[in-house]
Amino acid sequence: MFENEFNGKVVVISGGSRGIGFAAVKGFLANGAKVCFLSHYEETGAKALAALKEINPDYEVMTKAIDLCDFKAAQELYKEVIAKWGRIDVLINNAGVDSNTWLTRLKQSEWDAVCNVNQKAVFNMSKYAIDYLKKTKGCIINTASVAGIYSSPAGMPYPATKAAVIAMTKSMAYSFAPNGVRVNCIAPGVVDTDMVASMPKFARDTVNNSIPMKRFGEPEDIANAMMFLASSAASYITGACLQVDGGFRPTNLIN
Ligand code: NAD
Repeated sequence: MFENEFNGKVVVISGGSRGIGFAAVKGFLANGAKVCFLSHYEETGAKALAALKEINPDYEVMTKAIDLCDFKAAQELYKEVIAKWGRIDVLINNAGVDSNTWLTRLKQSEWDAVCNVNQKAVFNMSKYAIDYLKKTKGCIINTASVAGIYSSPAGMPYPATKAAVIAMTKSMAYSFAPNGVRVNCIAPGVVDTDMVASMPKFARDTVNNSIPMKRFGEPEDIANAMMFLASSAASYITGACLQVDGGFRPTNLIN
């Protein structure tokens, strides 16, 4: 679909060892990019790297496990990528954690942990990438969620942080459009990854029935949208929040 579109381009993806991020890593590599993907743990990164080398031993791919909120680690990471490949064209802030805890049971530690991964990491990773992206007229793609648009019945920090990601996307888009850097986000609906794997069958069926297209999204559905937004076909798109959700609205589940 995006054949050779990303030849010579360098893509950095957080949360790249599994789920949506891993599908994006595979997609960008298959279409010519060099990819640095970030994982929460070194072991999961190494496992994902081995799987990619199985697909194609010639893929130009590296992995790192860093604290996404650590400003020094972000700076070091980008220096390493530049030393290896000389440029950064695309940053995908994709790492994220869900939270279903009801407000009255929600601890401050959980609030902070969700805010750190879903929101502060987007700020930190974007801040230190922007000078490199200005040089390549590159782009940032953030993974938000339909929960950030419509909210969701339980788990306040998740919709709150995803709404923040949408606002941060628009804010960065305004700020850096004059520099030729585009910033967009994707709001997935329900996607069949580890994030929703623990859902009991009855809940899966209820959600599935509430999706107009009557299926969960596949990680590749979101990866394809990421590649579209990173491609030259999207060269006039910035500040957008692209819903990729089969028509799903979480508020349908409330009644
Ligand atoms: P996933 O749980 O399979 O992947 C989440 C990724 O984030 C993993 O690679 C994980 O290692 C990484 N991550 C989590 N905590 C981290 C931390 N503290 N430090 C570094 N990395 C960390 O789920 P997924 O569905 O692939 O999620 C990817 C993105 O899509 C997330 O931002 C998620 O909020 C968003 N999303 C998912 C769905 C869905 O239904 N699956 C819906 C809407 C949005």
